[in-house]
Amino acid sequence: MKIRARILGAAAGGGLPQWNCGCENCRLARAGQIPAQTQSSLAVSSNGRDWAILNASPDIRAQLTAAPELHPTGLREIPLRSVLLTNGDIDHVAGLLTLREMQPFTLYATRGIHEVVAENPIFSALSPSVVTRTAIALDEPAEIAPGLTATLFAVPGKVPLYLEGDEVQTDLVGEQTVGVELRAGSVTAYYIPGCALLNDELRARLSGAELVFFDGTLWRDDEMVRAGLGQKTGKRMGHISMSGPDGSIAAFADLDIARKVFVHMNNTNPVLRPGSDERAQAEAAGWTIGQDGMEVTV
Ligand SMILES: [Zn+2]
Ligand SMILES: [Zn+2]
Repeated sequence: MKIRARILGAAAGGGLPQWNCGCENCRLARAGQIPAQTQSSLAVSSNGRDWAILNASPDIRAQLTAAPELHPTGLREIPLRSVLLTNGDIDHVAGLLTLREMQPFTLYATRGIHEVVAENPIFSALSPSVVTRTAIALDEPAEIAPGLTATLFAVPGKVPLYLEGDEVQTDLVGEQTVGVELRAGSVTAYYIPGCALLNDELRARLSGAELVFFDGTLWRDDEMVRAGLGQKTGKRMGHISMSGPDGSIAAFADLDIARKVFVHMNNTNPVLRPGSDERAQAEAAGWTIGQDGMEVTV
């Protein structure tokens, strides 16, 4: 048994370039000088025929067009068996609206994330008579495609931006932000596109894994502030940064993980520039910078 993963989109919400952004990366991407990246999503399969998609990004239509494995195999037969949500963020759920058209699949999420989706009537476009909504309890495996199970576990994070109140807890641990443990036979891989903190529990869980896709939103915590693009730090957005003593590169250094791949990069992240020092540093620490269309099999 093996796990085949295809990065449908490697960028965080907004994508690269982001429609209203004139930062250096976005300008380079518009000029075709660095590769553009669509918004965060991963397709996974154990047998190469039946697929699950982890998070449905607003770019899903173009992402599916670019992925031959996911093309229809008949008039209305498709290889997509399910969509799994890791949180309720717009960049992870908006693509569900593209997946209407009376096409059966199963939508998996925690009960808490299902409630967020259910509260928004526009998602009834995915008719319950066609799309089955199945809640997965934390730490209980569910078979999301033949031969492939997913176990959701809580990771530190926050509620979606559109549900934030006056006070926001950015390292909440519960059903609102989860990581995914994928298993096919004895092979294990992880998908964690949003994570505020790598605590000891999470480090112990990931230690020795064959493959981890991890939150690469920002290179440094104050990256967006320094770029003049806003007041929010990575911590405030619920994302650990890559660099620095509190960053993910340092936190992963001694975890003995065979393949470490950053995904969910914000368009300001310098690792999105192939020749940058920051990318060289991440690669020297054993990381791969994910990009659209990249496939990893373990
Ligand atoms: Zn996101
Ligand atoms: Zn930008």
